[in-house]
This record gives sequence, C-alpha cells and structure tokens, in this order.
Amino acid sequence: MPDRKKHHVIAHGHSDTFPRGVDLLNDPYLNKGTAFTDDERDVLGLRGLLPPNVNTEEEQVVRALENIRQYKTDLEKYISLIALQDMNRTLFYRVLIDNLEEMMPIIYTPTVGKACQEYAHIFSRPRGLFITVDDKGRMADTLRNWPYDDIRIIVITDGERILGLGDLGADGMGIPVGKLSLYTACAGIDPSMSLPMTMDVGTNNETLLKDPLYIGKRHHRLSRPEYDELFDEFITAAKEVFPNAVTQLEDFGNTNAFRLLKKYRNRVCLFDDDIQGTGAVALAGIYSALRITDRPLKDQKILFLGAGEAGIGIADLIVSAMQDEGLSENDACSKCWFVDSHGLVVSCRSDLAEHKVPYAHDYEHLSDFLSAVTDLKPTAIIGVSGQPGKFDSDVLQAMAACNERPIIFALSNPTSKAECTAEAAYMHTEGRAIFASGSPFAPVTCHGKTFVPGQGNNAYIFPGVGLGAIACNAAVVPDEMFFVAAKVLAHEVSREDLDKGLIFPPLSRIRDVSAKIAASVAGVAYKRGLARVPEPENLTESIKKLMYDPLYRRYID
Ligand code: NAD
Repeated sequence: MPDRKKHHVIAHGHSDTFPRGVDLLNDPYLNKGTAFTDDERDVLGLRGLLPPNVNTEEEQVVRALENIRQYKTDLEKYISLIALQDMNRTLFYRVLIDNLEEMMPIIYTPTVGKACQEYAHIFSRPRGLFITVDDKGRMADTLRNWPYDDIRIIVITDGERILGLGDLGADGMGIPVGKLSLYTACAGIDPSMSLPMTMDVGTNNETLLKDPLYIGKRHHRLSRPEYDELFDEFITAAKEVFPNAVTQLEDFGNTNAFRLLKKYRNRVCLFDDDIQGTGAVALAGIYSALRITDRPLKDQKILFLGAGEAGIGIADLIVSAMQDEGLSENDACSKCWFVDSHGLVVSCRSDLAEHKVPYAHDYEHLSDFLSAVTDLKPTAIIGVSGQPGKFDSDVLQAMAACNERPIIFALSNPTSKAECTAEAAYMHTEGRAIFASGSPFAPVTCHGKTFVPGQGNNAYIFPGVGLGAIACNAAVVPDEMFFVAAKVLAHEVSREDLDKGLIFPPLSRIRDVSAKIAASVAGVAYKRGLARVPEPENLTESIKKLMYDPLYRRYID
C-alpha cells in the first residue's frame, strides 16, 4: 500500500484546504471520477469510494459518449450532458471539444431552446447566479456568494427574448450556461472564471406565471425605472466584486438591449452578442459569399426581414465595412433595407424605433417581403425575424431571377423559426443559393449536387472576442473589435471550403480561429489605448497559452 506521508497534495498548493473524499468527488472542477489513480485514492481519502478499476480520461470519454448517445431525444442528451458538467467539468469539456459538431446543437441552439422551454420541469439543481428585486441594496453581497472570485466573463440575460422563442423569464438561464460552455469549448476560457447570470425581473409570459413549477419570480416584468435601477446596481456591483470581468448581454428584448448597450458600452467592458456578435458573424459570411460571387461589398444591396437586435447589428457593421471600402455613411446605409412586422421601413412611416431611422429610405411603403424583393432586387436577403417560412418559394425564386448567385441567410433560431430550410433555399434557386442558417441544417442533395449549408453561429465570434478582451483586460469593447473579428473569420475560410458551399471554417478549427480573433481584438485594444495590461511580445502565442485544455492533472507529487 502506498505510503501516505511520501506524497504531497500539489493541486492549489495548500494541502490543508484541498478537499478530500466525498468533498473532492463533489467538486466538479477537481473531480476525476474513476481516473483517480491508486496512490491519489490513498492520499486523498478516496479508497473504497470509487470502483476499483482506474480509467484513463480517454476511456471515460468513450463511456460518456456511449451514455449520451443512447438517449433517443436531444433534450435527454442535453440533460445527460448537463449532468456530466455538474459532476466532472474536465470530462465534460473533453467530450464537448472533441465532438463539437455533434454536441454543439445539444448544448446550444436548437436544443437549448427546448431546454429553456422545459426548464422548470427538467430542473434538478441550480446553475448560475440569479438576481432579483430582492437584491436591491445588497447586490455586491449576492455576487460575493458565487464560490469563485477571479471571474473574467459574465453572460447575463433577463430572459425576455430567448432565441426566437420570446419571454421565458427565469427559465432563460439555460442560455448563459450554454453560452459560457461555448466560451470554454471554443476559446479555452477557464470554466471557473465564467459566471452565468439571470436578472429575474419577472415575466409577461402568462403560461409561465400560471405554471406551478415555474422557477422565477411570479410577477410581471418590472417597470422601466425599477428595471434600470436594478441593472445599474448590477453593473456597479460587478465592477466592485469582479473588476476584471467582461460582461456579455444575452437575449434581452430589443428595447432594453439597444438602450443598455448605448448606456454602458463606453463606461464598462460590456458588449451585446445579439447585436454586435451577430453583426460580425453575418458580415464574415457575406465576405465569404463575395469571394464566391467575386463582387465588392460596396456593390451589394441587402434586404433584411426583421429590424431588431440582429438585423440592426448586422447592418451597422456592414455600414462600417462599406465605409472601410470608401463609401460615405449615407451611401452605405442606402444599401441596407429592412422589412419589419409593418412592412418596408421607409421614411414616411411614423412608427419607427430610433434604431431603424438610419435605414428608413425615401421610398414607397410596401407591405410585404415578396414585393420588396421584386421591387428592390437585392443581392442578399437576411432573415432575422423569428418568423418561420417567410422565405417561401416565391421569394426564393424571385431572388434566383435577379441574381446569378443569390445570398440567402435564414438566421432565425431555433431551427423551427428559420425563414427557410436549407433544402428550400437550394431547391428553389436551382442550387445557386449561397446559404447560411442560424441553427444547423444537414447537407442537402439536389440538382445533382450535395451542398453543405453554413451555420452563421455566433460561436465563431463571441468566444474569440471575449478571450481577446480578457487577455488585454480591455476597458471597453468597441465595434472595431467585431469588425476585425469578422475579417479574421472570413479569412480563415479556405478555397476548398468555398467550393463546397461552406462560408464559415469547419468547427473542428474553431479554437485556432478563436485564438486568431482574440489576438486581433486585443491588437485593437493596444492600438487604441484600451488595454489595461502591458502588451506581450508575441500576442497570439501568449493568448494560446491562456487557453484552458481539459486534461487531468495529478494532485499529488
Ligand atoms: P428582435 O425581437 O430584436 O427582432 C425581431 C424583428 O423581427 C423585429 O424587428 C420585428 O418587427 C420583426 N418581425 C416580427 N414579425 C415579423 C414579420 N411577420 N415580418 C417581418 N418582420 C417581423 O429579435 P432579434 O434579436 O433581432 O432576433 C431575431 C431572430 O434572429 C431570432 O430568431 C434569433 O434567434 C435570431 N438570431 C440569430 C443569430 C445567428 O444565427 N447568428 C444571432 C442573433 C439572433
């Protein structure tokens, strides 16, 4: 039997505070399950608490995959993956990273949408931090209850616009949890440095309010002054308790998202993924598509269905990119057109929210999307309306009639909300569409060719942007960071990818792509004097060194 005294516990340096026995098995960051070696079991009080056979991490991955894959529905797979995350973070991230294409649609869109819809009913244990009106006046204390103090990234939602599924109140917590898993999987953010949060301000979803198992506050959404006061206290407390954290706003309703971004973007290190991240991933997709059509961005006319956070976020970044190609801001805006729930966004309308005004052109009002397509003859249509099927056969055929290679992005999530399926896009354009969706679609064979639809997944952007902001401890996150991120992402698409119809790089390369995005984002911070730590000699290499790799460490020497 190994001699206890011969070994020292080396993890975390402090043998007296290092957990032992069941406490160690219950710590998801330290637990290795059956991979604890015989001598670790002796020293750490684990003998007898684990089955005798010691496994390697690789063997555990095989078992975990077998376990997950036996489930018939994606929701069951989600529940089993989350249970693994609760039990053993290292193994969870190993499984996720090595099987990203298979697992991403489960821990994120579309399955996470279903999980949020069922959240109260599949709830088994809390994840993330909830704040409510009850925390007013003691917000910092509530934040301090989180068991880790070196938080570098916070993803917070108020649950008002969960994917395209609407107001899910506190049940939206699945989204920050899922997004932060992607931060770790795609950009190597250490999971103990991330904090998922829900600001539960109530819900206007009557079904939830009547659900006896609903997990949130059972009242309607707070009035604007109460809401603003709570959010402001959160920002102040987060700055005090987690001074090095980047805050990502996630799935807020569009009125609050635009307001909060405008109010805080130049004061703290904060961004809104639905506005800015979506802008960057869509711009990267357009850049790639233009490598296929061989036309410059400034010659494009882009028609959006949906003028909310995603649509305006994309258009704003396209306008910056067109200005970069020499257009004036006005000329660039004139290339972006919107149809919202009241028809074409034009200057004679009196019902326009502030964010739509720059895109309200002098033109007759058209009430439907098909008329706008046939009249305006756009080179690209982008669906961000949450309205399934709106890119119907007539719309797709009209796009095919006026473009040799029509660009069709159906970005609404989850899959059930996509404006058209990949199959419809290729079918009704004689296979000429350059297509991307928000949620994944399987490859499609039609007109004698197999097409691999691109997924305009924000996961190509936000993890790299977050990593870059963390690496240089950026004071703020300007739009320029998203612009450079889009350029890097587009640059990473190979000619071979484009030939297959792929306008984003394969997910298997995402960690490398995220590191490059992070380096260019941090580069912006250094150039603009926004970094709060000195610039390292080799930025990309130092960023790669920061990235967490889920490998077991030995806890004794
Ligand atoms: P939002 O609520 O801010 O905006 C929705 C917009 O759609 C509004 O302008 C609304 O007027 C418009 N709309 C609603 N019904 C319409 C109709 N019948 N016809 C025309 N327009 C209509 O939401 P958002 O944040 O902009 O998100 C919209 C969708 O985009 C969601 O499904 C979301 O999941 C998806 N999205 C995808 C990605 C991605 O794929 N990368 C990123 C962000 C958002």
